[in-house]
Amino acid sequence: MSTPSDLADKRVIITAGASGIGRVVAERFVQAGAKVHVCDIDADALATAAQELPGLGVTRADVADADQVAGFFEQAVAGLGGLDILVNNAGIAGPVAPVEEVSIEDWRATLSVNLDGAFHCARHAVPLLKAAGGGSIVNMSSTAGLFGFVRRSPYVASKWALIGFTKTLAMELGPYGIRVNAICPGSVEGERIDRVIAAEAAARDVSEREVREEWKAHMSLRTFVTPDDVAAMILFVCSDAGGRVSGQALAVDCHTESK
Ligand code: NAD
Repeated sequence: MSTPSDLADKRVIITAGASGIGRVVAERFVQAGAKVHVCDIDADALATAAQELPGLGVTRADVADADQVAGFFEQAVAGLGGLDILVNNAGIAGPVAPVEEVSIEDWRATLSVNLDGAFHCARHAVPLLKAAGGGSIVNMSSTAGLFGFVRRSPYVASKWALIGFTKTLAMELGPYGIRVNAICPGSVEGERIDRVIAAEAAARDVSEREVREEWKAHMSLRTFVTPDDVAAMILFVCSDAGGRVSGQALAVDCHTESK
């Protein structure tokens, strides 16, 4: 993956950066010479990330909790000395069930992490980005924010909401030189999609292999994407090359149609 050179010394905050896609995004920003601080709820994964990526700042924080996010930003900004880029990556898959079987607790938990989390972080980031004279916010949506997916109503609702949030912030913040975009990955290879496929297979009483092949058949390139594919798009929109891109929902999904 080519690394944009103008990201050197940029101050970057990434939520849920200890593992999964967020971890790869953090690595790519570090490789580009950026200063990076991540949060996560998994203390062990944070400790491993800090060990493996020297210079990485880490804070244990749940993005759904406004007080923890306030503490996270305080700690991150003390280390970074300001902010140029926020990547709102944290998001949970939520339940796999028909809507009438989704519990209120599961609905709220999914919206709290996926939507409230981005809001909590944006509230802290915007004054810092204005003070920096501009910057970038990236919100992690999904192809679930572009289509309807059966049995995934809380997740899909949260990811569509993030796109509305993105487009509105882009309008509010453009005059300050702040660009705001949503990234919409399709199914990304990794443990999380394996868990979602297992839950879908169980809900339909079919094999996991059957679900995986069925999903691939909806993709023009007949393959899932990788965390690196997603990271490349994020680095692009945050770099000078993406300097005229704002308010967009950018799919990295091998051209998926609704499942
Ligand atoms: P993941 O399930 O692998 O989790 C990554 C990290 O998130 C973990 O380290 C976990 O501890 C952390 N985390 C979970 N809840 C948190 C919280 N409340 N606060 C802080 N950290 C928290 O996830 P992933 O597959 O890396 O997905 C990252 C983002 O990409 C999510 O927003 C997800 O919805 C989105 N996405 C993923 C896929 C996919 O196929 N994996 C596809 C489209 C979009």
